[in-house]
Amino acid sequence: MEGPRLNGIGMTSARTRERLVQRLQEQGIADQRVLDRIRNVPRHLFMDEALASRAYEDTALPIGFGQTISQPFVVARMTEALLAAGEVLRVLEIGTGCGYQTAVLSPLVKEIYTIERIAPLLGRARRTLRELRIRNVNFRHDDGNIGWAARAPFDGILLTAAPHSVPQALFDQLKLGGRLIAPVGPEGRQELFRYTKGESRIDRQSLGAVSFVPLVSGLQR
Ligand code: SAH
Repeated sequence: MEGPRLNGIGMTSARTRERLVQRLQEQGIADQRVLDRIRNVPRHLFMDEALASRAYEDTALPIGFGQTISQPFVVARMTEALLAAGEVLRVLEIGTGCGYQTAVLSPLVKEIYTIERIAPLLGRARRTLRELRIRNVNFRHDDGNIGWAARAPFDGILLTAAPHSVPQALFDQLKLGGRLIAPVGPEGRQELFRYTKGESRIDRQSLGAVSFVPLVSGLQR
């Protein structure tokens, strides 16, 4: 299975990956399943070869079309927050981007439904995940603001782009007791929240300050 892209840096970077995992642990990531995914998912395959040497730094990096691959710490934090309450079967992800968050989460849940508004990014993510033999992901080119009603309800929803406030449609597509993890707010002043859907209200807990690209409307071909 290992083509040239899967060897090379993938093998030589074992030490830098280990350093990254250690750093995330020091910063409070405790879920061993999540740390194992950060260790094992070849992040360099999700970015331009020109940037691959920086793939195991804990930083966001450009992936084209004005978008970024999320910072590993934030991916770990969001994944951990989503999984903390117990078994999560079906997840909706808004903002596939390069598919790195999708890949980290994929074996920890049953099915992922992921939506991206920029067609070429979605196509590339689809190819990368196929190359990694990740098969429990359903892709959709659409505006994530409206969610994916035909496949609702979801046990968990992840937004990897920041709205000013979470669209009601997404809360509607969340199961009772389900969790929605989202960065919220204008650029430069965003906070990561975990929302839990209850019988009569939605509970909100802050997970700290973050920096994401904005959730925007409409499609790009
Ligand atoms: N999840 C990615 C990060 C993606 S960056 C990772 O693991 O690295 C956020 C992505 O959200 C971008 O690709 C952007 O195009 C997408 N996005 C922004 N607004 C969107 C919308 N309304 N619907 C779907 N995707 C959207």
